Amino acid sequence: MTQNVEFLAAPHIEAIPPMTPFIGPEQLMREGGHAELLRLGANESAFGPSPRAVEAMSAELPHISWYGDPESYDLRLALAARHGCGIENISVGSGIDDLMGLAVRAFAAPGAVTLTTRGTYPTFNYHVMGFGAKLATVDYRHDGMLDVDALIETSKRLRPAIVYVANPDNPSGTLLPKDEIVRLFEGLPAETLLFLDEAYADFVTGDLLIPEFIHGRLLRVRTFSKAFGMAGARIGYAIATPRNVTTFQKIRLHYGVNRNAQIGALASLQDPEFAQHVAAETARGREDYYKLASSLGRPYLESCTNFVCIDFGAAEVATQLMNALLAHGVFVRKPAAPPLDRFVRVSVGTAAERDEFAARLRVLWREIA
Ligand SMILES: *Cc1c(COP(=O)(O)O)cnc(C)c1O
Repeated sequence: MTQNVEFLAAPHIEAIPPMTPFIGPEQLMREGGHAELLRLGANESAFGPSPRAVEAMSAELPHISWYGDPESYDLRLALAARHGCGIENISVGSGIDDLMGLAVRAFAAPGAVTLTTRGTYPTFNYHVMGFGAKLATVDYRHDGMLDVDALIETSKRLRPAIVYVANPDNPSGTLLPKDEIVRLFEGLPAETLLFLDEAYADFVTGDLLIPEFIHGRLLRVRTFSKAFGMAGARIGYAIATPRNVTTFQKIRLHYGVNRNAQIGALASLQDPEFAQHVAAETARGREDYYKLASSLGRPYLESCTNFVCIDFGAAEVATQLMNALLAHGVFVRKPAAPPLDRFVRVSVGTAAERDEFAARLRVLWREIA
């Protein structure tokens, strides 16, 4: 009884071309026959999780037979204290990618239009397609900044259900000044939700992000994946109105958040010095990459994140260089769309990893240039 009968998925799923959203470093290693890879392509933290998080998670590991608290109560309480809001303003999910899916499912009905920037962090787009909504895009400005004017103008025309913006942005690394975020928020139609992805907020020092501010058509999301070094644990959260938190509550996977991730995240919050240490080390790493780019005569984008985009002049050259680096065991990525597709994006590694990257890049760039 093994007959291969074609069976179709729902039409909006059939309409999506088969693809692998992110080809992970493990797959690249299998394909390239690499026993080791210098992992500088996915903006993972080179500085690991807080030792206190590791200790807390290790101690609780035998209780992995238990489900985690579906309300993430203790963690939400700590997050509410961190952000000066109530526990009813916090929704915990399995990373921003999960919360993004909830937002699309909850706020963009099938057929509704959403708006993003072409070439920015792509997971939003996958959710939009997967839930049968539509995607409109504007382009980056030529200086690598998000184009607030274009986002506002296009929103006035298309009246999208959701506008997606990451600030600081990935893959550019650029930060919009907070008054520009406020201008964007205020310039959007009353029926448009702003999904503000602040995955890299913990690398921003000083008073450069919009203040704690909660509004019905604003979803702010944060993650433990980047500065807190817990990407593999999959945990993040949204700061939102109680009504929007309740909306998420209706549709989220109640046991979707890993119990150990809840414990590690809570312990991380109790170790703010560690996150500050990571942010400082990361800033040092960015400076190293700026110096490296300058020494090769290549421009770069000033970054407020844990990665830097270096300009190699043309998309084909950047692709060639990325592939050559991979062939030599260095995993980096590059932006997919113009005007940023002439850049290569490299994550901040440890000092030793940065040195190794610099050595490889110098040799390969000399060959390609
Ligand atoms: C890394 C990243 C994410 C993913 O966050 P998770 O919490 O690991 O799902 C989301 N948005 C941006 C802009 C990122 O760079």
